[in-house]
Amino acid sequence: MRKRRVWAGLLGLGAAVVEDVYCGDQGEVVVAARPRARERDLCGVCRRRCPGFDLGEGRRRWRALDLGSTLAYVEAWAPRVSCPEHGVVVCAVPWARHPSRFTRAFEDQVAWLAVHCSKSATAELMRIAWRTVGSIIERVVADTGREIDLLAGLRRIGIDEISHRKGQRYITVVIDHDTGRLVWASPGRDRKTVLSFLDELGEERCEQIRLVSADMAAWIAGPVAERCPNAVLCIDAFHVIQGATDALDQVRRDVWNEARRSGQDQLAHRLKGARYALWKNPENLTGRQQAKLADIQHTNRRLYRAYLLKEQLRQIYRLPADTAIALLDRWIAWGI
Ligand SMILES: [Zn+2]
Repeated sequence: MRKRRVWAGLLGLGAAVVEDVYCGDQGEVVVAARPRARERDLCGVCRRRCPGFDLGEGRRRWRALDLGSTLAYVEAWAPRVSCPEHGVVVCAVPWARHPSRFTRAFEDQVAWLAVHCSKSATAELMRIAWRTVGSIIERVVADTGREIDLLAGLRRIGIDEISHRKGQRYITVVIDHDTGRLVWASPGRDRKTVLSFLDELGEERCEQIRLVSADMAAWIAGPVAERCPNAVLCIDAFHVIQGATDALDQVRRDVWNEARRSGQDQLAHRLKGARYALWKNPENLTGRQQAKLADIQHTNRRLYRAYLLKEQLRQIYRLPADTAIALLDRWIAWGI
């Protein structure tokens, strides 16, 4: 009996009953489960108790969080009920959102990852299709509002945007930096979207916000400055480095154009393949790229200076706060 509770805990099944655990044909772990009596025969949409209809499509599987590197699934009957409002629908199960084929814990992890790293990294790590990330985010977003008050006690938050459906649609998301949770999300990426978040937060809770991290977008900075008087707006390190990298690339293009215009074909040629050597973090450079960089150091001081500025800025984020501030002051003086 206790072992079954361990399995229920591992797969985020909560109070559901574990009936069996077995190894599937592909080496996957399958946990056969059923909802407890009081959680049976609930409409998947409104969770109202309804009369049973049929057994639906029989046994069904929900992908759960991997157990180490092994894929894991929850397996259960998926009977249908007849809801007076929603018609014949598959029953709700306590471990997953309707009508997802993933467990709630799995989806929450995908949503967290999607806002902390790229969507393709999320897809690869979680071993799901790229487009699935988008539909999972949509479900988590729709569900966010229904859960407990996620906006209580927010102090340090991050506001960011995620594109999905191949960049066709945008979702603005809010992260609680203290808990790492996704606390708010809504379609759109404009001033109106940010304002609707701040409206929901309310005046009192806006005043309690101490820190907001975001990119440099005015549609975030404006509303935050207006509504959160005690908040410091921070620019995500990622976006700062991106800015420096863009500036470096501009210098590289300028230098290359000048070289070509003044007939220095050899110099232009040498600069041509330098882009990646300049972009990459020095610790990841190949031998050839290192040589390229050494060449730039000797032949093009302006470009090399831009490179050092980018690299030093990156370094600032790795240092303890007081050392970082001192270095940032020197960096600014040098950059001007
Ligand atoms: Zn219903």
